Amino acid sequence: MEKLELLYEGKAKKVFLTDEPAYYWVVYKDDATAFNGEKRGQILDKGVVNNQLSALFFQAMEKAGIPTHFVKIMDEREMLVKRLEMIPLEVVVRNVAAGSLAKRLGVEEGYRLPHPVIELYYKNDALGDPLVNESHVSAMGWADAEMVNTVQTLGLAVNEVLQGIMEKAGIDLIDFKLEFGVADGRVILGDEISPDTCRFWDKETQEKLDKDRFRRDLGRVEEAYLEVYRRVKEALLNV
Ligand code: UDP
Repeated sequence: MEKLELLYEGKAKKVFLTDEPAYYWVVYKDDATAFNGEKRGQILDKGVVNNQLSALFFQAMEKAGIPTHFVKIMDEREMLVKRLEMIPLEVVVRNVAAGSLAKRLGVEEGYRLPHPVIELYYKNDALGDPLVNESHVSAMGWADAEMVNTVQTLGLAVNEVLQGIMEKAGIDLIDFKLEFGVADGRVILGDEISPDTCRFWDKETQEKLDKDRFRRDLGRVEEAYLEVYRRVKEALLNV
């Protein structure tokens, strides 16, 4: 497999074409952004950690019957993925109120939701990724009703698998964001699963071990990402 020209550069990853049309080659960057790109910085070796962690999580999802775009690791910060037609939605699953939910509904960060809450956002930087519902999605033609149903079911299934892993790692899974695409008519999990896209709190101390350390200038950002990677690797060894 050969890495060919750059197809697309996002905020955290670059996507390259390959000599096989069915595959893309993803390079995870150290660049970090927050607040819709207003805050910018770098997290040393974030690309390496997010690539490795995403690979571990994707493999665990596959094992649980959740299809993902992951094919294989190509280098420390590079992975081969299946080419997907992306659905322009961010699917957020929450177990504990934090971030925008806490703000929007006026609940304290840390409030444990009695059951997981699932939300859909239209992925559009210019609009600031607005919150939408199923009827917006089908009316705008972003996905049909069956697809929306599938991404929500898969989102909740990912939550179950991820919670199981993080429990073993001594980490509370607060919330996370997924993106899905379609290949051969099938809905498949794409993008990444990492401390950039999840909220992870230490079970004992409730210390934040995710991108909120960068967003909120809490310091020890690199250490938090590495700590999650170390604990997840260990947790998966004992499965
Ligand atoms: N998230 C993300 N990308 C986004 C927005 C949110 O990965 O563009 C993740 C975020 O890291 C958190 C979850 O989705 O784990 C819920 O985020 P929230 O809606 O609370 O937004 P935020 O407070 O990050 O603006």
